[in-house]
Amino acid sequence: MFNQAAEAKGYGRDCCSTLRIALGAHFMGTFGLDATTGKHLHPDVIVNVIICQGQVKSHQLHAEYLGIPNINIELPFYFQSHEIAKKHFIDQCHQAVEKLEKTLGRKCDDEKLVEGTKNELRTRLSMTRIALLQRTVPAPLKQRHLGSLMAFQLRGVTHRCDVADFFELALEEVKQRTEDGIAAFENEELRLFHEGSLPWYAKIGDVLRYPERHGGVYMGSLNNFGIGGCFVIDEQGHWGVPQFPSEKGHEIKSRDEAFEALAKVFLRYSPFYQLFQRPELRLSAAKDWEVDGVVFALDRGCVGITSGLFESALVVKKAGIRATCYETSSTYPPDFDEKGYQRLMDMFLETLRTR
Ligand code: SF4
Repeated sequence: MFNQAAEAKGYGRDCCSTLRIALGAHFMGTFGLDATTGKHLHPDVIVNVIICQGQVKSHQLHAEYLGIPNINIELPFYFQSHEIAKKHFIDQCHQAVEKLEKTLGRKCDDEKLVEGTKNELRTRLSMTRIALLQRTVPAPLKQRHLGSLMAFQLRGVTHRCDVADFFELALEEVKQRTEDGIAAFENEELRLFHEGSLPWYAKIGDVLRYPERHGGVYMGSLNNFGIGGCFVIDEQGHWGVPQFPSEKGHEIKSRDEAFEALAKVFLRYSPFYQLFQRPELRLSAAKDWEVDGVVFALDRGCVGITSGLFESALVVKKAGIRATCYETSSTYPPDFDEKGYQRLMDMFLETLRTR
């Protein structure tokens, strides 16, 4: 329905698939509708942290249709100078504050900004530690559980104190599961990464559970770990937890220090945002989490997450780890061939088992 509404306005299947359905909802008058109260939410402004061009275009369109300003902070994909990328990111953060002050007609509350940044770091460090516990055999969580945790990132609420508290509780529980030897999947024989988009419709459970009938469990991906966590990788390819100023006894106190810390999180320590290194990082993660195979989901409607997936499959295979690819769409069910996926997985897991 949403796909058709967007298509009727000329937004075809080569547009960002996730945001296409949001535009479809907009055209159908249900975007921002609170089903319980029947009221529409009316945002004053759109603020984007940009990772891909699909996002740039669709948020521009939302802003146009809603008649509100659109403020972008680009996460620069760098491969030469970290310092230039950092400066660009921090400059944009300052500009975003100025634009927001102008749009909303009030001054930025730096105390809240600092508080939100500290919570963001707390949330991310807990997520990092949860991801690292996934190296345990058997894994304490399935990828489905990690996807639920990632929803907080996708909803843009990781700066909240209650969310940071929740992540610390989740970390304690995962630690306990690891100490008690509790497996997410009791019959874990083959450890798998699922890289790329997942359906945003009911098939998500079927896609992620299917390998379990062959003893395979999806237990992570660079996307899951990288979007929510932040890592340092040593020369041996071992992933660990980075140190932040607050952990070295230096508290974040000002707007400048907050932006400096965020630049570290997003540009230096987040493997997901390092676009040009993604294939090597996917291989590094597959080795460090000791996976038996990697499954790549190629979504024609997603230019952001899908970038580099083919190259990643080649790099992973060349290093001797089994990998396979299938085509899908995160929001357009006819583009996902379920039977084809099942046949592919039957063969892939059989190959892994008989290796
Ligand atoms: S990553 Fe994919 S789904 Fe997300 S905004 Fe970009 S194109 Fe759309």
